[in-house]
Amino acid sequence: MAPDPLTLPAIHASHIGIWIADMHGHVQRVGRGEAVAAVAATPHLLLNATLTGDRLGYPELSGLDLLELFAFLYPARFAVPTPAGIASAVGLNSPKGEEDIAAFLPRATAAMLASLDDPGWHEREGAWHGVQALARQRWPWASLVQPRLSQPDANERWLFARLPEWEEQPPRGAPRQVAIDEADVAARLDRLTGDGAERRPGQQDYARAAAAIFAPRERKDAPQMLVAEAGTGIGKTLGYLAPAKQWIDRSAGSVCISTFTKALQRQLSRETERLYPDPATHREKVVVRKGRENYLCLLNLEDALQGGFSGRAAILAQLVARWAAYTRDGDMIGGDLPGWLPALFRRNGTTALTDRRGECIYAGCPHFRKCFIEHSARAATQADIVIANHALTMVQAARPRDGGAPATRLIFDEGHHLWDAADSMFAAALTGQEAVEIRRWVLGPEGKSRGRRRGLAARLADVASYDEAGDRAIQAAIAAAAELPGDGWLGRLSENEPWGAIERLLVAVRAMVYARGIDTRTADTGYGLETELADPDPELVTAAASASDAIEALLRPLMALGKRLEALIEDPPDWLDGQARARVDGARHSLGTRIDTLGGWLSLLGRVGGPADPDFVDWLAVDRYDGREFDCGLHRHWLDPARPIAEIVYRPAQGVLVTSATLRGDGRSGGGWTDADIRTGARHMDGGVQHFAVPSPFDYARQSEVLVVTDIARGDLPTLAGAYSRLIEAAGGGALGLFSAIRRLRIVHSRIADRLARAGLPLFAQHVDPLDTGTLVDIFRADPHASLLGTDALRDGVDVPGDSLRLVVMEGVPWPRPTILHAARRAAQGGTTYDDMVIRARIGQAFGRLIRRADDFGQFVMLSPSFPSRLLGAFPEGTPIRRLPLDEAVNHVAAANVERRKTAFPAFSPS
Ligand code: SF4
Repeated sequence: MAPDPLTLPAIHASHIGIWIADMHGHVQRVGRGEAVAAVAATPHLLLNATLTGDRLGYPELSGLDLLELFAFLYPARFAVPTPAGIASAVGLNSPKGEEDIAAFLPRATAAMLASLDDPGWHEREGAWHGVQALARQRWPWASLVQPRLSQPDANERWLFARLPEWEEQPPRGAPRQVAIDEADVAARLDRLTGDGAERRPGQQDYARAAAAIFAPRERKDAPQMLVAEAGTGIGKTLGYLAPAKQWIDRSAGSVCISTFTKALQRQLSRETERLYPDPATHREKVVVRKGRENYLCLLNLEDALQGGFSGRAAILAQLVARWAAYTRDGDMIGGDLPGWLPALFRRNGTTALTDRRGECIYAGCPHFRKCFIEHSARAATQADIVIANHALTMVQAARPRDGGAPATRLIFDEGHHLWDAADSMFAAALTGQEAVEIRRWVLGPEGKSRGRRRGLAARLADVASYDEAGDRAIQAAIAAAAELPGDGWLGRLSENEPWGAIERLLVAVRAMVYARGIDTRTADTGYGLETELADPDPELVTAAASASDAIEALLRPLMALGKRLEALIEDPPDWLDGQARARVDGARHSLGTRIDTLGGWLSLLGRVGGPADPDFVDWLAVDRYDGREFDCGLHRHWLDPARPIAEIVYRPAQGVLVTSATLRGDGRSGGGWTDADIRTGARHMDGGVQHFAVPSPFDYARQSEVLVVTDIARGDLPTLAGAYSRLIEAAGGGALGLFSAIRRLRIVHSRIADRLARAGLPLFAQHVDPLDTGTLVDIFRADPHASLLGTDALRDGVDVPGDSLRLVVMEGVPWPRPTILHAARRAAQGGTTYDDMVIRARIGQAFGRLIRRADDFGQFVMLSPSFPSRLLGAFPEGTPIRRLPLDEAVNHVAAANVERRKTAFPAFSPS
């Protein structure tokens, strides 16, 4: 007999208090000590054990977490992980106040468990087997779920039998060369925006301009290219989707749309439903693609389920297995796996479930035909529209055979991020961590590491047994990889007892960095030390020569192996059936990536003691966090990372659109295109690039206000915290606080969170609350009284239209970090002009969070005593800007809040 959930005790802890509901439903406010004693003695119902444990100061807290039950019952369904969010997901009224939450939890539990008796429960299949496995892991909910589930009659299909298999498809043909008609594009856009809908100003013009990239190309290496700025609110997504779909229908071609943030990928996926209203067609025609490290690896999951994971991680694996049976595409990061689920397990195990280290064994894997990554790669080759991110789009342009869709038309939305995406994509780093990764990729896990061995030999066992030269290459690679840094390398470095040529190189790097390094201390990244790669010490020059030999010793057999694999594909032996061919092909591509990396290392090492290459910035660094070293090595970045974008990504395409709301960076002067052409790489396209701009339809003079607060001194943390608190209170929440340093964010949060909570204004923060950024934004969006503090990732990954976001507060001017790389780019591109371009773009993106709809009103507060006037161009034309002391700024914000409430509640009369 299962216990009645209504008789279970429950606990709720927040910044303002702790409440316990007893088995009779009586709620009592308790102290921390009493609460900890109670939960240690009896498992309580609770919502989010990690967060509750943080609030109680009791990280070991365990109990019956409603979020785990939700994940089991409704895998792949969305819910905001708060009492209100769960109430809405299960159809209950939200608890009215904090003091009602403990009593709400048993009711929510009863409502959820009632699904088990509901014949219409959609996720029944697999539940019985799942809960048996969870019971063996002592999942606290098992005793409540098991008695309510009867054993299925027929032999229920287990996850790996249930998942669909992909089919090999012929490659998609080249698109027909067609011209699309402007009138057709306009009519298509009208249909997409809805009959009778008011035409958005500028959207039709934008769609017509975007249509130009679909015209046939006139010259080789010269795509039809448009750089287009569309102010917020134009509706640029449908503006480019209309000509894209018109062209797809006429040419039978495919289009790749690339974004920077996962938020926009999700939004695009939703918007394309208008192009393909039938869900099955939409699934087939529109594919969202991400890097392989985002997806669940079924082989890793199987390892985890079969004993690879223990304790809490094993429970997570079972819940992930439930989700895997219902997910749309197996995307664990930003897909339909609840972002809060890994956080409940303190991220214990999630990374081991994806294919982070490229250890895939391809067709040697028993799940190859069901693999989510393979599904997505194959689906993309058949899709009309592939929604990828900038990094993946660049990887596929650089290595076109890596499962890429044959898109000849590329649309880069969030084009202002191309520079940053290319900066990491085309960089080289010969560091200890990177070398360990390559060693693992060749040798597989060593020592006590868990998991099956999936080194090169295991991945290519059949090649080795068939092909003597291939076998020799694999053995030579294994011998050479053993010279790379392995476990314990950081300790050996600090004790000056290096092992192997690369570790000796790292010792020399470290010594030179400590001797000459400048402190790039910022709390964004912890702090590190770095120094230019100029006039190297003789020890470093000698060590670099030996390291080059060691790397060449690995590179040679890997290249020989690559040739053998190519020969196998070109002249296939009998045993090379479709599956084996897929494995060889997969191995060849991942081999290509490593060969590129090693080649990059060699040219970087060749630079030590040699002449500098003016196209690159090279430096040495020791990376540290909280004073502890975690990596060390040599780095190389392009001085202008937009150059390889132009060479590798744009030139081979037939049509390219780069678009964003903030490309020109100077919203006041209308701005020329110089900044945009630099940041997007358009200036490297030998002319022929068209430009188009359409201003935002929003009335910024009426809808927004910028308040530059002049009396908060930089570095005065108590005053900074006080300013945040007063502004958030004046606004009644709905504030997004942006910081350039995690340390300051944490201090401000710790000073003001309790006080705001007492005023009924919950405050959440990145790097403080144990929740992923996407979930924090979901919580913020769902509660107009909530506020959120965060760093860079929030500056433009947040799309919160309406009342939930009405105030953005920036702690100061987001000056770029004074790194060696920054100094080099600054020197190359005009000193402060370059800085200003970067900062205006950052401020413009932050401001852009504020007004998403014509009926939004928002205030932007910059806490800066000496905000340079030349940066005011970051704000759109017409935006009122006031410099004033904090007291007055608070009054402005409070007055706007009163106005807002009068509009929202006409009967409201402020006292
Ligand atoms: S094919 Fe590779 S990524 Fe896919 S499940 Fe198998 S090992 Fe994992």
